[in-house]
Amino acid sequence: MPETSYAGDYRPEVTDLSREELRNFLDWCAKLLGYEPTIIGGWAVYAHVPGHLGSRDIDVVFPTNRAIDEVMDRYYAYNGFKCEGDLEKTFHKEAMVDGKTEKIIYDATSYERRNRLKEKDSIEIPWNLIETHKERKDLAGLSLWTPSLELLLLYKVKAYRDRSHELLHKGLLITPGDRNRLNSKIWKDAEDIKALDGLGKTGKKELNQLLRQTGFKEYYKETMREIRRVSQDCTKCGKTIRAGNPSQLKINVALHLKKHEIDGY
Ligand SMILES: [Zn+2]
Repeated sequence: MPETSYAGDYRPEVTDLSREELRNFLDWCAKLLGYEPTIIGGWAVYAHVPGHLGSRDIDVVFPTNRAIDEVMDRYYAYNGFKCEGDLEKTFHKEAMVDGKTEKIIYDATSYERRNRLKEKDSIEIPWNLIETHKERKDLAGLSLWTPSLELLLLYKVKAYRDRSHELLHKGLLITPGDRNRLNSKIWKDAEDIKALDGLGKTGKKELNQLLRQTGFKEYYKETMREIRRVSQDCTKCGKTIRAGNPSQLKINVALHLKKHEIDGY
C-alpha cells in the first residue's frame, strides 16, 4: 500500500490565493456590515498555529441564516463568484495556478444550523458555543475571530470523524475523484488536529467542560489516540503496515489481513 500525503493540495501557490480572498472578505464585512463573522476550519487552525499548512476553502459562521443570505449573496455578486448547481447552490471563484484551474469555495453556516455527529446524531457540537468560546487572532497581519483552541479542537475532531465515517460507509460507492478529495480532507483534518494538539496549550479545564457539556468525550479521546498512530505491526507476520492517515491505515490493515486469509496462514 502506498503511503499517501496530500500536502500538494495545500501548496502555498493555492493557499496564498485563498488567504488574499479571506482578507478581501473580512475587509468587506468590516466596512459594509460593521461586524465580522467567525472564521472556522483550516484558516482558524492557521491563526492558532502560524506556519502550519494553509487552507483552500474558507469556512465561516454567522449568527443567523438570514445573515448568511444577506451577506454572502451580496458578496458573491460583487466579487465575481460563479454559481453552480440547481437545488444546492454553491459559489466559487476560479484562479489559474501553474496552468491548472483551482477553485476557492466558501462554506457558510450559522448558529441556527445543527452540527450533529454523523455516526451518532444525539451528539452535537453546537455552533453557538463560539459565542462563549472565541478568541481574537492575528493571521499574517489579518485580525479575525476564531473559536478558542479547545472548541476548535472539538470541531476539528468532529469533522475528522464525520469524514472518516463517510469514507467507511460510502467508500466504494463514490467515484475515485470524490474518494481522493475525501481522503485529502481527512488527511488535512488529521494534520490540523496534530498541529493544534502539538501546541501543548490546550486548557484542560475548558476542554473537559466542553466535552462533558456535549457528550463528545469518548469519541474525542478515541480519535486523539487514533490520530497519533499512523503505522501498526501485523499481529500475524510482524510486518509494519503504514498509511497516510489513520482511516487509510484501518483499511490497509484489513486488506493485509485479508491477504493472509486468502494465502491461508
Ligand atoms: Zn501480516
